[in-house]
Amino acid sequence: MIYDVVVIGGGPSGLSAAFYASRARLKTLLIEKNACGGQMLMTDMIDNYPGFCEGISGFDLAVRLEKQIKDFSAELIYDEVISIECNYFFKKVITRKLTYETKSIIVAAGTLVKKMNVPGELKFIGRGVSFCAVCDAPFYRDKDVLVVGGGDSAIQEAVYLSKFARKVTVIHRRSSLRAIKVLQERVVLCKNISVLYNSVVKEVLGEDSIDKVVITNVKTHEDRYLGTDGIFVFIGLIPNTLFLPNVILDEMKYIVTDETMNTFISGVFACGDIRKKRLRQIVTAASDGSQAAVSAQNYIEAQVK
Ligand code: NAP
Repeated sequence: MIYDVVVIGGGPSGLSAAFYASRARLKTLLIEKNACGGQMLMTDMIDNYPGFCEGISGFDLAVRLEKQIKDFSAELIYDEVISIECNYFFKKVITRKLTYETKSIIVAAGTLVKKMNVPGELKFIGRGVSFCAVCDAPFYRDKDVLVVGGGDSAIQEAVYLSKFARKVTVIHRRSSLRAIKVLQERVVLCKNISVLYNSVVKEVLGEDSIDKVVITNVKTHEDRYLGTDGIFVFIGLIPNTLFLPNVILDEMKYIVTDETMNTFISGVFACGDIRKKRLRQIVTAASDGSQAAVSAQNYIEAQVK
């Protein structure tokens, strides 16, 4: 069995690619490692996806996208891709369990959350250190939490956490936030959120679970203890590209594509957050996915001629 398209990754870009490919009657397989939805599953409310005036939860949008690909008979399997092999005519996608042959590949494997790499961080994961507010916020009802980061994720999740926690303190290494203005305005409206600027976490401390962190002021280099019940880390993303050949990656390990999602390997396309690009949003991921599918279709048709 040779697929027309194998899509790697079931986030919004991969699901959109599989939807467009299967709707174009291409024999489509989507391989997802965990659950369809990707980073979107960690988002309580998406309020910037066009058409959803009241917003939609990341989970609900993922369920709808998954239904759309099934309606068009795309196959969905849960497995981890460990490498790909490409020659001019056929490509192989190798997973932990099997090898799949395909005419084209769309890589939509997204990103992983970045860690602070400070002492105590790994030790207390699940015991005070979290990377997902939607998953863990209810455990911090009426407690004090820290949020590390100053980008869209940190600020969006701080606002979400403020509905549960007694007090949320955002720790940001610069003197101004990077997050878009509309998110910053929401922080101002939340009376239980404060921002500690020019600060980084140096160490996470505790016994069975965390009870304090060491904070360093990056301007004065002074250290101080800050007591807390939990710490949520949102300091950016790293592309999930370890299983891919270096030839298609940039120096930051993101996949380089042209505007039609072609990579440097013929017949291999990439879409979504894993791609080198400026704007990482669900709507741009969906747009990338549709373009990657159409490019894969054009590529397959050109091979036949
Ligand atoms: P990001 O935009 O890269 O922001 C990361 C933040 O963490 C920055 O403020 C950065 O500081 C800080 N940081 C990085 N490394 C650090 C370290 N070692 N210690 C302390 N702080 C550190 O990442 P993100 O917020 O996860 O967002 C990722 C992408 O998803 C972005 O493109 C974003 O726009 C998008 N996104 C959009 C939405 C939305 O539209 N609602 C929501 C979530 C995410 P500096 O500012 O000093 O670099």
